[in-house]
Amino acid sequence: MPTYASADLAFERGEGAYLFAADGRRYLDFASGIAVTGLGHSHPRLVAALNEQAGKLWHCSNLFRIPEQERLAARLVALSFADSVFMCNSGAEAVECGIKMARKHFHEAGAPERYRIITCANAFHGRTLATIAAGGQEKHLKGFSPALEGFDQVPFGNLNETRAAIGDETAAILVEPVQGEGGIRDGGADYLRGLRETADEYGLLLFFDEIQCGMGRTGKLFAHNWAGIAPDIMAIAKALGGGFPIGACLATEKAASELTAGSHGSTFGGNPLAMAVANAVLDVMTADGFLDNVNRQAENLRARLEALVASHPKVLVEVRGAGLMLGLVCAVPNADLYRELRENGLLTVRAEDNVVRLLPPLIIDESHIGEAVDILDRSCAGLVS
Ligand SMILES: *Cc1c(COP(=O)(O)O)cnc(C)c1O
Repeated sequence: MPTYASADLAFERGEGAYLFAADGRRYLDFASGIAVTGLGHSHPRLVAALNEQAGKLWHCSNLFRIPEQERLAARLVALSFADSVFMCNSGAEAVECGIKMARKHFHEAGAPERYRIITCANAFHGRTLATIAAGGQEKHLKGFSPALEGFDQVPFGNLNETRAAIGDETAAILVEPVQGEGGIRDGGADYLRGLRETADEYGLLLFFDEIQCGMGRTGKLFAHNWAGIAPDIMAIAKALGGGFPIGACLATEKAASELTAGSHGSTFGGNPLAMAVANAVLDVMTADGFLDNVNRQAENLRARLEALVASHPKVLVEVRGAGLMLGLVCAVPNADLYRELRENGLLTVRAEDNVVRLLPPLIIDESHIGEAVDILDRSCAGLVS
């Protein structure tokens, strides 16, 4: 179906931070399949885990226990605020699980009228009917009405407006700590702490969508770790599987206790192939020094980008974001810079607000940053010549 305006470019293989087209041309991949291939392409640990599992067992469904799923859940619990995990296959499904959880929580608590969820302008939570309603963006909702009821939107980063939107029917607040599709906006630690205080004051569930900003992308395993607070519910996906489709919804005992047997489910969720890969992803991401490298590279990349903005004021306005989730706000149409970069061998992703997103794999080193900055420099010069 004509759902994508894909670039006329196909890849044959990937290795680390590089993708190779059929004609042999090499591209530096700072798109990572939209923040999915966090460990780069063909990571030997992931390849081995998938191959080994493929020879043993692919699928048996949740009619039976899946030991690798129990192990992944236990590890995610140990690494986070959560007490339990629901496994699914995509980001939208992980958010959907959290929305259902919030509604069920208050329903079983004797307050079924509390079903509304406060979300943010420019949010992105997926493309299902519930998640486009949560995202609230006209361009995603148009033609698909009636929209699912129960979402109230406030400006991102604005605690006063958030508090003003809380009513007797409010159940939860759903926020991306760093907005991705919306243009790489970092809410910041004070905002997240304020959201936690507000949720506590009004007895609401705090629900973070870390599908894009989680799994090491900002230099901590989860972006909210920088704020020293925790949500009650969190959706993750994308880089959790390193390219194998997976999603997970994490929650506290209090939030999740009403999602009892039969109340929610997934045929494929938590299947052995996905679990083997995600466990391997965690092996790599939790190894000593992994996140230190992310922070070191992020600091270097950001400094080099700031310099680039200063030397190309006709093309670039500003750098923003967190860790290795960076956005270049453009003075030219972002599509022009995006295309020029691709032609020069650097893959990026566009975002709202005229932003070009840089989402390199978390395994990059200085040489990749040097190469990316050279291509950016050349491309900016090319756009104004
Ligand atoms: C990608 C994304 C989603 C949706 O994930 P899918 O796997 O495409 O369903 C939801 N929220 C955020 C923040 C995302 O970046």
